[in-house]
Amino acid sequence: MPGLDELTGRVGEWRNWGRTAVATPSYVSRPGSIENVVRTVERARERGGTVKALGAGHSFTAISAPRDVAISPQHLGGLVTVDVDRKRVTLRAGTRLYEVPALLEPYGLAMENLGDIDKQTIAGAISTGTHGTGLGFGGIATQVVGATLVSGTGDVVTIGEDDPRLAAVALGLGALGVLVEVTVQCVDRFVLENTEHRVPLAETVEGFISTVRERDHFEFFWFPGTDVALTKTLTRHPGDHKRAPVGAVRRFVDDGLIGNGALLAVCELGRAVPSLTPRLLSLATSVAGERKATDYSADVFATDRGVRFRETEWAVPLENTMSAFAAVRELTESRDWNLTFPIEVRTAAADDLMLSTASGRDVGYIAAHRYYRDKDREFFGEVERIMIDHDGRPHWGKMHTRTADYFRAAYPRFGEFLAVRDELDPDRVFANDYLDAVLGR
Ligand SMILES: Cc1cc2nc3c(=O)[nH]c(=O)nc-3n(C[C@H](O)[C@H](O)[C@H](O)COP(=O)(O)OP(=O)(O)OC[C@H]3O[C@@H](n4cnc5c(N)ncnc54)[C@H](O)[C@@H]3O)c2cc1C
Repeated sequence: MPGLDELTGRVGEWRNWGRTAVATPSYVSRPGSIENVVRTVERARERGGTVKALGAGHSFTAISAPRDVAISPQHLGGLVTVDVDRKRVTLRAGTRLYEVPALLEPYGLAMENLGDIDKQTIAGAISTGTHGTGLGFGGIATQVVGATLVSGTGDVVTIGEDDPRLAAVALGLGALGVLVEVTVQCVDRFVLENTEHRVPLAETVEGFISTVRERDHFEFFWFPGTDVALTKTLTRHPGDHKRAPVGAVRRFVDDGLIGNGALLAVCELGRAVPSLTPRLLSLATSVAGERKATDYSADVFATDRGVRFRETEWAVPLENTMSAFAAVRELTESRDWNLTFPIEVRTAAADDLMLSTASGRDVGYIAAHRYYRDKDREFFGEVERIMIDHDGRPHWGKMHTRTADYFRAAYPRFGEFLAVRDELDPDRVFANDYLDAVLGR
């Protein structure tokens, strides 16, 4: 399947970036037009089969694992239209996030907020609730003001801003149809100033709520066993603000420490000689000092993640964030897991999307990672238990074991989402094992 990120070399086998899901689709369709998407869906439906629209394979859960036919995003990218006055762009659903800045640049536009990386497709990112950080901003799906999809009955359905189904379709888990176009509300191109500090953990935890209320975008990383937080604060400025580009000071916490070489060394050395891990981590975090850079937003939001890992991430009500974090810290201190990846803490504004992890409440996100060669089940399982105790909702694209009964209680609008699913995909053409588990059949 050329055009996908993750190929094994074996014909037809698909696997995700995190190496947690593998599948062999019966057939891979690479449509370049809406008509051909319709044809693929109709054919599968006629013979009682299923269709999975693939993104970039960057979900850690098996949400994107095809059961039968797969639709590649390969020929479904690019810009469709721009409404300059309303600052809205319609993108084809397979457009990669890293392609978007160049598409928006001629119009002086940018996306309002983004996550840590830009490898995902726009459809994949919104479908799992991909988010960045900032209490004044929602996840990427909250920027969606319209979409066109091919439903499970093979109909081309355009969902506008006033259509109540948009609150399902904008974050639809891939369960409602094959998105072919997505309209995004953009903002004027802007500049972000990134300031990174190494701060005592206790101070960061104590000031967390006031900091996230004051700053545009704030997050911190904490390596288990250390007592410092590596904080990242982004401040928004108008597009003509003076820039001091990231390239000149590339060694951000994310890029220099978490993304690449230093962390890989810690992970591999720590695996070989676990007793070295605490010293390696304190050395690695001690060199992560004060850093600053200012550039156009997309260049600052997006970072590299060169070291393969696995992740579980949970949204808890904002006021629960620090007590959940404290419980995770206590957990890591009570076990001998030789953890080499950090815990990452972010926030998002409440929204009204039916299955958004921030639906109806401001949230704090707590993410736990493990190097992909290390065992994750016990650690992630214990983190999950803590998050459940803190009224948590798991990221749809990151590892968890919750099923439909849990989500029915966790999401007040869960029933509404299922009703939209019944309407748009009555025969469950878009089902896979993950969706059976989290939504029911
Ligand atoms: C290194 C790394 C960093 C990450 N950083 C963040 C982060 O900062 N914040 C965050 O929230 N998440 C993050 N994630 C998670 C990631 O953003 C999500 O899992 C996202 O869904 C991946 O997008 P994708 O294009 O790879 O979609 P996939 O994982 O391929 O698919 C996800 C879902 O989208 C559906 N889908 C894809 N295309 C279509 C379509 N055309 N129509 C309908 N459904 C479709 C799929 O069927 C599937 O259900 C990260 C993941 C990795 C591996």
